Amino acid sequence: MSILVVGSVAFDSVKTPFGERDRILGGSATYFSVAASFFTKVRVVAVVGDDFGPAEEAVFSDREVDISDLERVSGRSFYWSGEYGYDLNVAETRDTQLNVFADFKPKLSADAKETPYLFLGNIQPQLQVEVREQVGAKLVAADTMNYWINNTPDELGEMLKRVDLLIINDAEAREIGKEANLVRAARRILTMGPTRLVVKRGEYGVAMFTGHSYFATPAYPLEEVFDPTGAGDSFAGGFMGYLAATNATDEAAVRRAIIYGSVMASFNVEEFGCERMRRLTYDEINARFRELRAFSHFEEAEMPPF
Ligand code: AMP
Repeated sequence: MSILVVGSVAFDSVKTPFGERDRILGGSATYFSVAASFFTKVRVVAVVGDDFGPAEEAVFSDREVDISDLERVSGRSFYWSGEYGYDLNVAETRDTQLNVFADFKPKLSADAKETPYLFLGNIQPQLQVEVREQVGAKLVAADTMNYWINNTPDELGEMLKRVDLLIINDAEAREIGKEANLVRAARRILTMGPTRLVVKRGEYGVAMFTGHSYFATPAYPLEEVFDPTGAGDSFAGGFMGYLAATNATDEAAVRRAIIYGSVMASFNVEEFGCERMRRLTYDEINARFRELRAFSHFEEAEMPPF
């Protein structure tokens, strides 16, 4: 089954303790679709300006991502500038310029409207709602970030009512749930619309909550993290990609999807931008899946009374 993603296609200026890049291709929809493209067909809904040229287009076409619903208008593409200190789990936003996204009105093609799996990547919540209303998908997942939680809380509330699954980081979960304790925040979020909440915890892994189940896994232990930008989106791409590829949404499939998401995110952060993902192989993906499974596998035991 195929996936439709709406989100930012952006130029990013990123500074980490290991280096700096100016105006490289990024954006939530970009990272998501490159990761998901290893699993299934992906179609992107977004808008770009005339700074989006053949080199940027190649990032999508090399992975056979369908960009026929990518609108091109005159002006500048979305721009984000961020910096990470030694705690790579925390990005400090230096600048956000919506540019062509400010007036974007997504008009989906007939094929796009029939896509069974929909991911509402991080972008204005009102745009996420506009796309959600046009697609009769089987499974709808979404992401957001503090920028929208703080600036457009009402629109965010409307978006939450329309999704099955929310994939956010722990700080965002605490802000949306208005609770310092993550478990309590999750319970609260599960009353706002989504029936499943996936919480990304950076180098500490992922936790997943439903009304009646809990699952958690560590992150792949990397010695070198160059650029955490896009980790969340490539996680979501691997996660949704696996679900769409197998067309399964039962608990066992969702747990495996969490591992595939973690694997894709771990590769993405090894280099700046999409560089690492562009030469990733299936052998590498499968080997890391097996390792991650082994890292947290343990046998059942029972202590006899002492
Ligand atoms: P993440 O996976 O959370 O690291 O997302 C990183 C990407 O999100 C970057 O490539 C940015 O271009 C994009 N981004 C940053 N801020 C926003 C925002 N407010 N809305 C949409 N996309 C954003």
